[in-house]
Amino acid sequence: MPRKLAAGNWKMNGLGAALAEVTALAERCPSPKAEVLICPPATLLSRLSAAAEGSPIATGGQDCHTATSGAHTGDISPAMLVDAGASYVILGHSERRADHGESDATVAAKTHAAWNAGLTAIVCVGETEAQREAGETLGVIQSQIASSVPDGATAASTVIAYEPVWAIGTGKVPTLKQIAEVHDALRGQLNERFGSEGNEIRLLYGGSVKAKNAAEIFAVSNVDGALVGGASLTAEDFGPIVEALD
Ligand code: PGA
Repeated sequence: MPRKLAAGNWKMNGLGAALAEVTALAERCPSPKAEVLICPPATLLSRLSAAAEGSPIATGGQDCHTATSGAHTGDISPAMLVDAGASYVILGHSERRADHGESDATVAAKTHAAWNAGLTAIVCVGETEAQREAGETLGVIQSQIASSVPDGATAASTVIAYEPVWAIGTGKVPTLKQIAEVHDALRGQLNERFGSEGNEIRLLYGGSVKAKNAAEIFAVSNVDGALVGGASLTAEDFGPIVEALD
């Protein structure tokens, strides 16, 4: 199996002073068993990559455009993320799907573009609270995966993050049984579509992961790490989550 992954999504948080957290995290976790990733806002990416150099911390973007360059005001190409030191990019986060109307087809196109630049794409899927209450969770997620993850996905190029929309930033977390149900279904779907490679694609859980619940979530079948928002912003909060994968 590939190494487990503790990925931090800083979202639209962090000024220059936040870079000290990366140094503190590298000091606290000098040789983690899991891969450690921080995805800061684009303004910090190149400085954060420089601060993390020589440490086990990798860096990533939070979105990218499908084009390699050109007339796209405000956008960032996958090649630009690579130029700023990134090796990963988060795509199709529910906040981008909601705030920017990103469809599954958009996410698939961005994933292709990310692969072409040599980035590993972290493709996010997840149901809303209304969809869960209506019993639609597995159908919604499997359809998002079918349409957001292009053919040809490999364990090196692709990570999937299951993030129930209602669990993001709310302190509400699905039961371990609910997490297992989704992750087992996703594993089955990936195996069916990608054969043995599908068995190696990492499945992260995301949504209100904290130091206090990380270990029990990581013990759930087919959970290969976490995508962490709020609790990734400081070394004090993120360090114990990284350590829970040791
Ligand atoms: P949260 O966010 O950990 O703050 O709930 C997770 C995410 O949106 O990736």
